[in-house]
Parts: sequence; structure tokens; C-alpha cells
Amino acid sequence: MGKPTPEEMGRTSYDAYAFVVGGVSVHGEQLPAWEQLTGAVQNGWMAAAYAGGAAYAAGVQVPVLVHVAGIPQRMVQACTRCGAVLIDITAWAEGRVAVLAGDGRDPSWWPAGAQVAKGGVVTYSVDRAVLTDDEKPCRP
Ligand SMILES: [Zn+2]
Repeated sequence: MGKPTPEEMGRTSYDAYAFVVGGVSVHGEQLPAWEQLTGAVQNGWMAAAYAGGAAYAAGVQVPVLVHVAGIPQRMVQACTRCGAVLIDITAWAEGRVAVLAGDGRDPSWWPAGAQVAKGGVVTYSVDRAVLTDDEKPCRP
């Protein structure tokens, strides 16, 4: 595998961002695909990827934010502390997400009050009072 190009790094950063925010902009609109971004916005993501690479090279860890699971409401489970969406199965409940025939799985939620760590593409529950150096409360 060769060295990634700036465009590949920008696209990877943008895709990671889109994944973590659920594909929705701060205004609640669907995020466009990389190809639909303007050159200026693509350049911005390439710069962000470069900064991220520099931080990585310097040994900086991206913190994992630890949220507190609330009671699911209308197919969405959010953090009681900052409001971040932890689980959103609206599309699943409305039948917009295909489920394999015979796969009668029910939706599963985090237990209310559970600490849920989210960072990058990882999500896990934290069942200990003391956080690690890489974990930060979403809102101290
Ligand atoms: Zn939170």
C-alpha cells in the first residue's frame, strides 16, 4: 500500500466525520458525498487531515467522550448530559433499513444511566467510576 494522497486523507477524514455525526450537518441536513463538496471544502478537509496526521505523529491521542445513556424516546437514545445521540433506530423502525427475513431482532438500548464511551468508530460501555487518560466526560 502506497502513501495516501492528500485527497485520500481528506476524504477519509470527511467520511469519518460524517460517520460519527450520523451523516447530518449541524443544520440537520444530510451531508453531501465527498464528490459533491466544493474544492474549498475538500481543501479544508485535506488541511484537517494534515493537522490530524501531525497531531498523531506528535503522539496526541484523540479522546473518547464518555456519555450517560438516557431513557430511549421515539426510537432515539441520547446522552442526558450533552444531548448527543447514542442510538437512533428511526430508519429501522420505519422500515427504511432492510432487515434479513427471519431476523426478528428487537432493538437494544444502553441501560439508562450507563456510561457510554464514543470515539471515532468505537462505542463501548464503561462500568468503572475512574476514566482512563484517553476518556473524557462529554461535559465535565
Ligand atoms: Zn454526552
